[in-house]
This record gives sequence, structure tokens and C-alpha cells, in this order.
Amino acid sequence: MAEIYVLGGGTPTPTEFRFGSAHAMKIGDEVLMFDCGPAATHKLVKAGLYPTMVDNLFFTHHHFDHNIDYPCFLLCRWDQAAGEGQELNVYGPTLTEEITQKVIGVGGAFESDWQARVNHPYSQQVFVNRGGTLPRIPPAPKATDVGPGEVASGKNWQVTAAPAIHVQPYLDSLAYRVDTPEGSVIFTGDTEPCDSVRELARDADMMVCMCWDEQSVMEDNNEHRGQCGTTGAAQMAQDSGVKKLVLVHMGPSLSKDAPFDQHFEDMAPFYDGQIIFSEELMKIKV
Ligand SMILES: [Zn+2]
Repeated sequence: MAEIYVLGGGTPTPTEFRFGSAHAMKIGDEVLMFDCGPAATHKLVKAGLYPTMVDNLFFTHHHFDHNIDYPCFLLCRWDQAAGEGQELNVYGPTLTEEITQKVIGVGGAFESDWQARVNHPYSQQVFVNRGGTLPRIPPAPKATDVGPGEVASGKNWQVTAAPAIHVQPYLDSLAYRVDTPEGSVIFTGDTEPCDSVRELARDADMMVCMCWDEQSVMEDNNEHRGQCGTTGAAQMAQDSGVKKLVLVHMGPSLSKDAPFDQHFEDMAPFYDGQIIFSEELMKIKV
């Protein structure tokens, strides 16, 4: 069975119920993670998953609402693994390798943390009590900058990327497609409706799409470029022939409109499929 988990369902604006972006997809006993926004590591555990279950992490882009919990995730996963399991594979657009090195490499911001855990006898004792065998090996995630095309594959999944349109040329953005025997899921990341994502999403079972606000409000505020809103997301899902549209990355103004009756009505003329306005920690079957 394949299912997705909305870990972070918000934006850079913190609210009581949403903050930042992060998603997981469970395929059999494997967990893929998409983005690592604020408190993603904690929300992963709240969702019933665990950092050591994740061997592959994909970044859509490097805005803080999508990557700020990366240091926490890397250190926590390494610490909790106690030397077991494989190194983490990390994929993302330009800057993924550089940020990884600057966070956790030799000379990186958190080197002092892992040096202390590797070398101090008190920390070594905790490690041994957790099941580890000395000497302790420093964290060594395998980060790779990737572009459009096939990115990675596993036992029952294959991930393909396509360019998304957000805040180029300052940051590159990618959308991802995960193909599994139980269905296909698109993680749009932050993007405006665009042909490359439409093409990537062709006939997918689920599109997990950003939705900043009501489309007409975004157009009135001139905030409709580089982002999807309600009817923009609906039209893109329709154009791609996607069966289910899961809205995430919802801004504070849109989030207040729960249970979203008016928005369902506004979107219905644009999209035939099922629409889900997601909440954080929601689990949705593909
Ligand atoms: Zn964002």
C-alpha cells in the first residue's frame, strides 16, 4: 500500500496549525521524504514515522520553509541510527550538495555537534547503550544536485523530476513524480501552473500541489506569479488528467476558510477529480 503524509502543510508564515512544507510517502516498508521545512523531523514522528525509516530525501527548492529542519533531520537520523542502516541519499536542485557540506561536513556549522558525539566518552556510552559499536562513524549523507529527468529509484518506486517555476534565477525549483505499482504521485513543490509540471503529472493518481490562496485574491494582490492558487491548481490538475488533487502549502488567509465550501464550489468548474484541502499530519492513501 502507498500513502502520503502531510507533515508541513503551511508556508513561511507560522500559524498554530501550519508552518512550512514537508511530505512523506510510504511505499511498502520504504519512506521517501519531500522537503524538510520547520519541525519536519518532529512532525514525522508525530505522524507515526521515524527519521531512521527515511533513506531518501528530495528537496524541491531551498527556501527556508522547505529546508530549515534539514540540520535537525540529518543529525537526529544519524544519532538515532546508532551506526545501523544505510547513509541518507539526498537529492535536490543546485545548492543541495553545497548546503549539505556547509551544514554537516568538516568545517560545517554542525561539525562541532557530531565531533562531540563521536569523541566524548559520555556520548559514546549513550551510543553503545543504544546498540552502537565503537568507534562511532561521522554522518556522511550522500547529497546530489539533480535536474530534470530520472532522479532515483528503489525496490518499488521511481522518482522523476521536472522544472517548476518559482523564484528563478535566484533558486532552482523541481517538481517530482513518484511512480509505484500502487499509483503515481506528483509533488509540485512551489510553482505557478506550467507546462513542465503538467507534462510530468500526466495521468497521475494524485497531485500534491501548493495552494497559496484563493486565485482571485492572489490576482488582486499581484501574488499569482511563481505560485498556484485554488483554481490555478484545479486547472493544472485537470489539464494533466490527475485523479486526486491534494492542496498543501496553504497560506494563513486561505487556511482560515476551513471547511472550504466556497472554494470547492469555485474549483468545481475547473476540475472533475477529487479535491482535498489537507491538514498537517493527515495521511492519504494513493
Ligand atoms: Zn514555500
